[in-house]
Amino acid sequence: MDRTADVVVIGAGIAGTATAYYLAKGGASVIVCEKGEIAGEQSSRNWGFVRQQGRDPAEIPLMMEANKIWRGLERDLNADIEWLSAGNMVTFADAEEGAGWETWRQTAAEFGLDAKILTRAEAEAVVPGNAFDCHGAIFTESDGQAEPRKATAALARAAEGRGAEFLTNCAVFEVEKTAGVVSGVVTEQGVIRAPVVVCAAGAWSGRMLRTLGLKLPQMWIKGSVARTTPGPIVSHTATWTGVAFRQRRDGTFNIAKRSADHDLTLESLLNLPSFLGSFASNRRDVKLHLNRLAFDLMGGSFSKAALAKELVTHRILDPEPNHKVLNEALGTLHQLLPQTAEVKIDFSWAGYIDMAPDMLPTLDAVDNPSGLILATGFSGHGFGMGPIVGRLISELILKGEPSLKLDAFRFSRFSDGTKLTPHSVV
Ligand SMILES: Cc1cc2nc3c(=O)[nH]c(=O)nc-3n(C[C@H](O)[C@H](O)[C@H](O)COP(=O)(O)OP(=O)(O)OC[C@H]3O[C@@H](n4cnc5c(N)ncnc54)[C@H](O)[C@@H]3O)c2cc1C
Repeated sequence: MDRTADVVVIGAGIAGTATAYYLAKGGASVIVCEKGEIAGEQSSRNWGFVRQQGRDPAEIPLMMEANKIWRGLERDLNADIEWLSAGNMVTFADAEEGAGWETWRQTAAEFGLDAKILTRAEAEAVVPGNAFDCHGAIFTESDGQAEPRKATAALARAAEGRGAEFLTNCAVFEVEKTAGVVSGVVTEQGVIRAPVVVCAAGAWSGRMLRTLGLKLPQMWIKGSVARTTPGPIVSHTATWTGVAFRQRRDGTFNIAKRSADHDLTLESLLNLPSFLGSFASNRRDVKLHLNRLAFDLMGGSFSKAALAKELVTHRILDPEPNHKVLNEALGTLHQLLPQTAEVKIDFSWAGYIDMAPDMLPTLDAVDNPSGLILATGFSGHGFGMGPIVGRLISELILKGEPSLKLDAFRFSRFSDGTKLTPHSVV
């Protein structure tokens, strides 16, 4: 294969797929290279919350625009993606925690977001019959949920319908450049010449970019999720309390806990300096593990040949879920929603989240090599952002200017002395 395209996208998660959709809509020829399958990694493994609530203020305008897109997406894509708009609610334990949420709510209100603080009794109306142990809650009624794999697959089908091409089982081994300008990619199926390459490689982006001499700090955090058997319909509001849950149309629940795991690799050590602060503040929620992954991913951080081997060995990152945590999540669901007493875990899964030190994505055109665009680092909340990211990145490529400001997501923040502190509330 020796091919040409206007744009090559690396990775068919929701970021890469939505980018391809909007680029194809705008008339560009696009090839998406995916080492595994469409939405094989994070974009099929997430909870499916599509929320504006709790976001870093820098993300609120993007998420409000994303919300508008999500509302029309089933119609635009002519597909059932299980969109439900019943809001997002987070409970808080005491007045002090409530005051933190009130500060965030005031900021969000400046953007016109409909978030409001609820009393314990008002939270009862949102999730009836609950036994939540809370002082109150924050609720954003316009938030929603969708089924991740269906949403990403529908975007890919719509992109294909407009001429984009998806090559699965096609790892990109190298981004080629000539005199500081991108000239294409070397894939396992041959070379593709293109003046623009979008890196939407999710958890692999940091390693991929290091082969170009670029430093994108990323830390892999493993999140575990379970799907339950169907129960009586309680509420379609995606809720964070002692357990995070969303009830789907068929009555099944996605459940998870706040706690996460970090499987140590060489990458963990390389990135440690950028993440010391966030590890310190989340140390109770993140458990460290040394397992096979550390030995599997030994050399790819340094050598192109080793990374190429790792990309085809790990076609789809499919880590073992933390069953202990998920059983606890089920127990908490039973306790807090007594109506779910008969519900059991049907199946479970896990995914590696690509965390950034400030929990913000990187959405930017790189100076050197020029022609390289980054759409990555979504830090555990990029599913909801997917459609707007695709639209903005396509605008950046096709018009030279995105319709919303992306300064907060610039790549140079990792090297220009910016203090990288997370400002998202969840
Ligand atoms: C357990 C869990 C819960 C989450 N819950 C939510 C939620 O409720 N709401 C929300 O908004 N977000 C959530 N997220 C985060 C969300 O899933 C991600 O932010 C989003 O899916 C990232 O999309 P992406 O396209 O950047 O990455 P991915 O979906 O990971 O896609 C990247 C793709 O690139 C491919 N790739 C990598 N390197 C190469 C290469 N060299 N060549 C070819 N292909 C390559 C990979 O195989 C992969 O398919 C959650 C994530 C997890 C794991």
